[in-house]
Amino acid sequence: MRMQPPIEARYTEMPEDELARRIAECKERLGSQLCILGHHYQRDSVFRFADFTGDSLKLSQRSAETAAKFIVFCGVHFMAESADILRHEGQVVILPDLSAGCSMAEMADAEDVEDALRLIERVCDEANVIPVTYVNSTADVKALTGRWGGACCTSSNARKMFDWALRSEDQGGAGADKILALPDEHLARNTAFAMGYQGSDCVVYDPRKTDGGLSKEAIRKARFILWKGHCYVHQKFTVEQVDAVRVQTPGIRIIVHPECSQAVVQAADESGSTEQIIRAVSASAPLSKWAIGTEVNMVRRLAANNPDKFVRVLSDAPPLCAMMDRIDPPHLLWVLEELCHDKVVNRISVPPAIAADAKVALERMLEQSGT
Ligand code: SF4
Repeated sequence: MRMQPPIEARYTEMPEDELARRIAECKERLGSQLCILGHHYQRDSVFRFADFTGDSLKLSQRSAETAAKFIVFCGVHFMAESADILRHEGQVVILPDLSAGCSMAEMADAEDVEDALRLIERVCDEANVIPVTYVNSTADVKALTGRWGGACCTSSNARKMFDWALRSEDQGGAGADKILALPDEHLARNTAFAMGYQGSDCVVYDPRKTDGGLSKEAIRKARFILWKGHCYVHQKFTVEQVDAVRVQTPGIRIIVHPECSQAVVQAADESGSTEQIIRAVSASAPLSKWAIGTEVNMVRRLAANNPDKFVRVLSDAPPLCAMMDRIDPPHLLWVLEELCHDKVVNRISVPPAIAADAKVALERMLEQSGT
């Protein structure tokens, strides 16, 4: 993870209303040269300044479409990397705080992933193994995925991308015998189950163990090899919370993110990406009751935007993504004021050779997603 050097105290000590006023002034001054992208997990005081908001998929699409010269990404490091990979000539991508990483993305190292792919191929007599990489991964892992004929996916299109990987080449797919799904074992397992596969079709590959901790027979039998990785925010949700909320609020519907464990997803009424959760709650009837298993900033905003409904976080303790939370108004103002002085700070720049291969994996996903 990269470290963010401290910014000047005049930013960190500035009152909130002055920060907001000066951010708005910078936006006005930079005009159409600037595009601020805001992920749903961002705090309100940052989210309100975003020109476009969304989940990883929507923001990848927006970043590929915008003509603005400066893309300020209010999200985490892998998202800014994706924006840099998809950017046009002359565009610059900025992450307001370099230490806003993603612990899940850091659980998959490209060399370890390549070792796993080679092992699976060797054990399975040159079977066609296709990596499908959640966008919550480093540019190096995306690049490896592109080189191995694989694609990226998000939580909203994982099923579509698994279908694509397994479909025959005659039918426009990748013709995979097996999928190496990474870096989130939970999204992968939940997706495989939603497609009708069983636990016996999936094995977990642990990169910290010799041969992933798997026997040759287990690798041969599996259709899905799941990388042992997780999101610590979504692992905080439990079946006990689901049961308790149902007792506390009869008639409540429970919707959770597919990064939650399979047990939680099965205990809930629905699961979906952040965009799918927003759509489900927004389209529900007045007086509907919802408990939501995802990051707290998004759930609180959803509650505020749906005052005619009861909307709560599934857990009692607020599940905050500490990585996303590193993007705050002082850092946003700092990068914008530097831009106003013709100075770029915190540029995210993926080396061209890595970017070219990673772009292949991202574009395969965007093609399947209808852009
Ligand atoms: S919520 Fe989880 S997966 Fe998303 S950025 Fe935070 S740590 Fe990463």
